[in-house]
Amino acid sequence: MSEFLLIRDAQRMAPAAEGRGDVLVAHGRILAVGQGLEPSGCGATVQVIEANGRLLCPGLVDSLVHFGGGGGEGGFATRMPPLSAATALAAGVTSMVGALGTDDITRSHADLLACARSLAAEGLSAYTLTGSYQVPPVTLTGSVRGDIIFVPEMIGLGEIAIADHRGSQPSAAELARIASDTRVAGRLSGKCGKVLVHVGEAPEGLALLREASTRWPVPITQWHPTHINRNARLLADGIAFAKEGGSIDFTTSSTPDFVAAGEIPAAQALAQALSAGVPIERITMSSDGQASLPHFDAQGRLVSLEVAPIGSLLESVREAVQRYAVPLSTALASATSSPAAIWGLERKGRIAVGMDADFVLLEPDTLARALTVAAGRVNRA
Ligand code: ZN
Repeated sequence: MSEFLLIRDAQRMAPAAEGRGDVLVAHGRILAVGQGLEPSGCGATVQVIEANGRLLCPGLVDSLVHFGGGGGEGGFATRMPPLSAATALAAGVTSMVGALGTDDITRSHADLLACARSLAAEGLSAYTLTGSYQVPPVTLTGSVRGDIIFVPEMIGLGEIAIADHRGSQPSAAELARIASDTRVAGRLSGKCGKVLVHVGEAPEGLALLREASTRWPVPITQWHPTHINRNARLLADGIAFAKEGGSIDFTTSSTPDFVAAGEIPAAQALAQALSAGVPIERITMSSDGQASLPHFDAQGRLVSLEVAPIGSLLESVREAVQRYAVPLSTALASATSSPAAIWGLERKGRIAVGMDADFVLLEPDTLARALTVAAGRVNRA
């Protein structure tokens, strides 16, 4: 890796459109943004990328990836493999938040953390959440607070399951306590201390979160509920929740079976939430990558499983623009600046001096990925 990287003549999407120019990177951080930049006189090697007017966007920030491997709900043969760095880079994702999921017995925080560190060795920024679907939360150090305070990668808790047959059916009081522990640990360690909430199919939707935030001093911003595009009823509930001040996440990996069962594609849900007046700062999209996606036959029997693709995040950004007429800067924000702000990742999700040198370069006409830069390292695969 050269000490310096110069990306020349790119249309910057920061994620707001900022016009054409250059970006100079030094040692993995953005050193300068402007016109006609040249690193000169210091004798360092400079790697140059001629962008030729392509779109330079922040590397995508994926709010939920089971990068240690997810699934397993159909038996041991349905456990999904860990994510490779190459797969994430090919998807334009440079930062991700990892979580255990349903299985916190054969999967562990030690393993998830090892996976995060293996991804970090390739330039990716991988964070983790303590806990799992279940209550009481499983931890690495013995407590939620200990995990978040002592483990640098652990920034919050989740995905804890509500309204789902696979969860522990927590009470509002239990959720309030867990959210408060997470919040206090976040404050003590300078992290966001948020709770990612897996919301299942049961009709109560987000009622427990509202109850916890009404009866106890738990700010509504403490929660980041996901799978809000699961069905029309939950989407309406989520839009209301976001208009009350909360934030919401849409899942981009899907199957035709899910859509036939009422799931709203993430790109469509994004357009719907925006037109209902939800500020983009309260909306994220995430891939739920490496979870299992089931395929059923006409009789409803499981015939096969596939790994939820992390590439669905960039695909949904593209679909939001091309099919649902969401402005590119707004669609990008849902996978860059919004998740970075919600997760307290101060050097992620934007292109500006001092930020980490994480980018995805897109073709202006098709929005196809040309290359990814993670911590200043260029990946063209
Ligand atoms: Zn989930």
